[in-house]
Amino acid sequence: MQTPEEAAQALKDRHFDTKLIHFGAEIDPATGASSVPIYQASTFHHFDIYNPPQYDYSRSGSPTRQALEDYISLLEGGAGGYAFASGMAAISAALMIFSAGDHLIVTEDVYGGTYRLLTTILSRMNIETTFVDMTELDQVKAALRPNTKGVYMETPSNPTLKITDVGAVANWAKEHDLLTLVDNTFMTPYYQRPIEQGVDIVLHSATKFLGGHSDVLAGLAVARTPELAAQLKKLQNGLGTVLGPQDCWLLIRGIKTLGARMERSEIGARRLAHWLSERKDVEAVYYPGLPEHPGRGIHERQSTGYGAVVSFDVGSEERAKRLLNRVKLPLVAVSLGAVESILSYPPMMSHAAMPREVRLERGIADGLLRFSVGLENVDDLIADLEQALAD
Ligand SMILES: *Cc1c(COP(=O)(O)O)cnc(C)c1O
Repeated sequence: MQTPEEAAQALKDRHFDTKLIHFGAEIDPATGASSVPIYQASTFHHFDIYNPPQYDYSRSGSPTRQALEDYISLLEGGAGGYAFASGMAAISAALMIFSAGDHLIVTEDVYGGTYRLLTTILSRMNIETTFVDMTELDQVKAALRPNTKGVYMETPSNPTLKITDVGAVANWAKEHDLLTLVDNTFMTPYYQRPIEQGVDIVLHSATKFLGGHSDVLAGLAVARTPELAAQLKKLQNGLGTVLGPQDCWLLIRGIKTLGARMERSEIGARRLAHWLSERKDVEAVYYPGLPEHPGRGIHERQSTGYGAVVSFDVGSEERAKRLLNRVKLPLVAVSLGAVESILSYPPMMSHAAMPREVRLERGIADGLLRFSVGLENVDDLIADLEQALAD
């Protein structure tokens, strides 16, 4: 018989693709069922008042959620994972580690919802933020203050796919006792595992690639150490922003095919990016897999793939809107990372709240579109874009 420690080690020793399928809870020990049961229960009976049950109330813990939380922790290589009602719920909970008077250094291309949380909610609680261009380590260093407590990264960033050197920032942060956080939504642990680069907390909008089917809203947080894991657990229980059992199950089901989906949609994204980059009527293409991408070298050191998101500039608002009205295949929507391709228009969607001058300064031009490549045949996607781009 294996001891529990030996069993845990055996799971960790497997290749990533095998972990996606055999993660420890893939067979229900009670019945042999081939998937994790959905425990649709809010509370748990105390059979013996002297020996409380393992789970006592579903906000504090539920077997279906536990299976998902152990799964993401295994995949990211952490000491504990936590599931939340949305990506923003996970990010909010993690940022509640900080206290009034603390200062954070955050990438200037941070996800819009995170920007809003920092500038309109945490700011009221006297947590200050300095936004910097994280492609420049010197800018990160220059933002350090006596009360700086954390550094928050997102790489590749949205929607211009800028690359932050995660290891370099994490090493510098460690010298100054700063907590490091990475939003790993775009890459997923299939392509990038920030904890291996020394990062303390990894965050996900699992709504995107992890769920993968545009049918569940969810967030995940993974801690590098048992101490940080205990802090996250306390915040999750205290804030109460947990993920329900049905959504936990949907997410487990989605993650099982993560490798196959990422691999396949990346092949499409590479073709699409290359095709776009050869067109005279496309002003710019942003994709870390293109040879001319300035962050390509750093990205290749810290990730094993380029991902499925390609942004491109068609030159004007008018042209972007015409294309959006003409495309037949992609969903024209906010969001990304699904089996179907999703085309979004950041100036009117994710970045609508940003003043135009600031938006342009960040490289988000009036004609910028973001294409999240799904699992369709890429020749069909290209043909569709071709007809939509025609004069
Ligand atoms: C969508 C997204 C979020 C927010 O997640 P929700 O699940 O929508 O709350 C955070 N970060 C990134 C990079 C995202 O794309």
